[in-house]
Amino acid sequence: MPELPEVETVKRGLEKVLLNKKIENIKVRRRDLRVQVPVNLESDAVGAVIQSLGRRAKYLLINLSNNKTIIWHLGMSGRIGIHSEKPVELLKHDHVILETDDGISIVYNDARRFGLVDICDSEKLASLKYFSAMGEEPLEDSYDAKKLLSHLKDRKVPIKLGLLNQEIIAGLGNIYVCEALYRSGISPLKACNEISLKEAEKLVIEIKEVLREAIEAGGSTLKDHKRPDGEIGYFQNSHKVYGKEGQRCPNCTCDISKTGGIKRITQGGRSTFYCEKLQK
Ligand SMILES: [Zn+2]
Repeated sequence: MPELPEVETVKRGLEKVLLNKKIENIKVRRRDLRVQVPVNLESDAVGAVIQSLGRRAKYLLINLSNNKTIIWHLGMSGRIGIHSEKPVELLKHDHVILETDDGISIVYNDARRFGLVDICDSEKLASLKYFSAMGEEPLEDSYDAKKLLSHLKDRKVPIKLGLLNQEIIAGLGNIYVCEALYRSGISPLKACNEISLKEAEKLVIEIKEVLREAIEAGGSTLKDHKRPDGEIGYFQNSHKVYGKEGQRCPNCTCDISKTGGIKRITQGGRSTFYCEKLQK
């Protein structure tokens, strides 16, 4: 599933080809994505100029000159391709195609159809159902330990589940929560309300760092997620614990034949990878 760094990478890739371009045409081949693609998408967007691209959690935002914003979520398996050839040879799961006045086609492919493409008035964005209850962006400069703690102090669920809760913090998925907890030396089983200010400070630093590194590396590419320019990212090679059950933790010198190495447990139906020795 594309996570925050992957979506940021897609955003940066799209910025290069979409900024200041006019939308000449939009084709919707299937409207029944996770949320029905609104029938006014085409009439609201065609003819407008793309003024900026943004991201909120894992949602891509395309801001138009007519004060509308296109909201795009890649779901579980969605991919955005950039094509300059004409005509574009469309594949089975290519559902939405956006064409610019300089001949670029943005093609949205989503086999499982868990993604969405929506449009709204830009000024109503924050109150939209996708964003109204959403927590803060961890990469904002103003995001700090006090903000994180204010959401953790009354919750008894394990910190692993807390960090996956989009109302507590926006855009973190399974991989980066595992990695940030490992780097912070905090057990994924520790209750949210037992996290100290010092631990929260460390956690916020590591969350920002792990996201920045991933964005720099071009986003990881689990399963079939590709960068918009067709290249495959490579951050997955630098995961320290995620997907590494039974392997030696990079910061431990323990004998894995005795300790079993990195542990995998299930929390909230999803795998957690961690080191029992380093994470308390
Ligand atoms: Zn270890």
